[in-house]
Amino acid sequence: MDILEILKTVQHPGKGDKNLVELGMVGAVSETPGKVEVELLFPKNRDPLAEYLIGSARAALYRALPAGTEIVVTSKVAAAEPKAKKPNVNDLTLDEINNVRHIIGIASGKGGVGKSTVAVNLAVALARLGYRVGLADADVYGPSVPIMTGTEGVNPEAIEEDGKTVIMPIEKFGVKWMSIGYFAQAGQALIWRGPMACNALKQMILQVRWGVLDFLLIDMPPGTGDIHISLIGDIPMEGAVIVTTPQAVALADVEKGVDMFRNAKVNKKLFGLVENMAWFTPEELPQNKYYIFGRDGGVKMASRFDMPLLGQIPIVQGIRECGDSGEPIALSSRPDAVAFLDLAQRLAQEAD
Ligand code: ADP
Repeated sequence: MDILEILKTVQHPGKGDKNLVELGMVGAVSETPGKVEVELLFPKNRDPLAEYLIGSARAALYRALPAGTEIVVTSKVAAAEPKAKKPNVNDLTLDEINNVRHIIGIASGKGGVGKSTVAVNLAVALARLGYRVGLADADVYGPSVPIMTGTEGVNPEAIEEDGKTVIMPIEKFGVKWMSIGYFAQAGQALIWRGPMACNALKQMILQVRWGVLDFLLIDMPPGTGDIHISLIGDIPMEGAVIVTTPQAVALADVEKGVDMFRNAKVNKKLFGLVENMAWFTPEELPQNKYYIFGRDGGVKMASRFDMPLLGQIPIVQGIRECGDSGEPIALSSRPDAVAFLDLAQRLAQEAD
């Protein structure tokens, strides 16, 4: 008779009546003619029911085996199972972004210049041109991708794979989206600051199943600070695009942004400048251009910092409305969408 089958009838009353075999408590078993030896394994902290279990095992074997069989049940302290190492953010590898051709940060020296609007529409425009695109919204201070893409409140699926958690991006408009905003309660300000924010961002980018991409855009937090430095250090960005408005006072912010990528330690490529809100065009007068923030500020800044001007985006009511309604204007066939398609084309040229 199978010894293990017999030992399965012995339950551990302290462990929800699971049996000895289920609990992995049966060690070496030897069967010789007329003799059966069984070793029961106990954890280091002595089980108060050890004697009871040894007795029960012996009794079960005694009852089931032919009369006269010698039965020896011994106990042994089992070696403690090595504790499974908790995955740590520092263990994250670059595996998930190894198949991405260009990782490009979308940055601005300060908030409110339309960085996210440009990032989202650029991603959609690149996808319309046939590129495989992902966008990671790393703006911890105000993630806007969920609203701008109509994906507010979605919960990205997380799957366990070889002991690692992999997060699936949200696919919409032909782009793979991920946002730090998907991990915050709706309407709640994010309280991630400092190292916590850096770790959250690192996870949000390195744990996402991006797959094969031509472009992964990173919508960076506005400004320049520790979070930016750590993001640039952790994620192997090839370079960045800087978004600005044209007025002269924006120059100092652009300079800070440029320094962040061009300083000797980082030394990343600047793909170019995007001049947002370059002029105002009223919906009813599409030919008219009003240079309310001054003319050609972007052209001057680009030449001053020796980088290409990738595009000029007008202020158009539709851009704001589409941003608010979750349908980026770059999806449409409106003339305003063309500015983003031109921008995408230009960036693709600079990158390839
Ligand atoms: P940032 O990411 O730099 O903080 P956002 O992209 O969130 O800026 O833009 C701030 C606001 O300005 C949003 O309401 C957005 O819809 C609007 N906006 C940005 N660019 C334009 C534009 N070219 N025309 C009209 N509205 C714009």
